[in-house]
Amino acid sequence: HAKSGGGNVVAGYHARMREGLVERLELESDLRAAVENGDLRLHYQPLVDLASSQVIGFEALVRWPHPTRGMINPLDFIPIAEATGLIVPLGRWVLHEACRQAVEWSTAAGGRPLKMSVNVSVRQFDRADLSEVVAAVLAETGMPADRLCLEMTESVLMTDTDANLEQLVRLKALGLTLAIDDFGTGYSSLAYLRRFPVDTLKIDRSFVERLGVIADDTALTDTIVRLGKSLGMATVAEGIEEFGQLAALREMGCGFAQGYYFSRPVPAAEAGRLFLEGAAV
Ligand code: C2E
Ligand code: MG
Ligand code: MG
Ligand code: MG
Repeated sequence: HAKSGGGNVVAGYHARMREGLVERLELESDLRAAVENGDLRLHYQPLVDLASSQVIGFEALVRWPHPTRGMINPLDFIPIAEATGLIVPLGRWVLHEACRQAVEWSTAAGGRPLKMSVNVSVRQFDRADLSEVVAAVLAETGMPADRLCLEMTESVLMTDTDANLEQLVRLKALGLTLAIDDFGTGYSSLAYLRRFPVDTLKIDRSFVERLGVIADDTALTDTIVRLGKSLGMATVAEGIEEFGQLAALREMGCGFAQGYYFSRPVPAAEAGRLFLEGAAV
């Protein structure tokens, strides 16, 4: 009796595993089709210069409007794209679309420079031809290299360091800028920061969130801003939601910011208007 009960539990477990697997395979083939058919979209979150309060550019954030599941969050499909290798064509599309759009908006604004930031997965860094792909996209779109910023997580600095260092040097040689995303959450040491040709630190939202609330986090954020300054790097605060956080970061001398306080990531048409208007607050 006990045995057959256990058998049912096991059978139920297997059925659920099979369901999970089927769902995952479905999502994978849907994603492949979406990438091939050009069904992905980009939303854009304004990047604000804290000295002038102007919108000087955007971070491109990919969106997947799924025909039956609704809008799928990147945190739910980027891992699938990474595991299947789809991140390579997906990443190229994001890069191309973001650069094309940046050139279009800049032209519409009488040539006012527009900084575009694009997230690059560690899987893309693993490919030796990343710098060639980026060079081709810059040439195809006419995007000036110094207006493009590639965002990578600290893990890029931590894994396979020699190959990644060479890759970053090749990318830098194109004339673009490199940022470390979610800075403060990983394990990059000061030695790595000095060794790699990084231009910008993006201070993770978790620090900004607790600014003024938890004294230790305020001190840490201040330390990151100073670290950036002493290494000659720009600092961008992520996830500003309240005026108090903005005031604190300005006081610390943080150069740039993003967050719902200024704007959520918005579809292209709205982002284009925000850039033309210029003023962030
Ligand atoms: P990320 O690069 O750190 O992007 C910032 C995330 O924080 C975005 O989530 C953005 O919508 C959200 N955010 C911005 N301001 C605020 C705020 O004030 N409050 C709160 N609560 N959240 C804020 P999103 O768009 O869901 O993207 C999540 C992550 O997915 C990104 O984190 C990035 O790691 C990844 N991702 C997005 N697009 C791409 C892409 O094209 N390629 C790759 N490889 N990864 C991407
Ligand atoms: Mg980012
Ligand atoms: Mg980030
Ligand atoms: Mg983040």
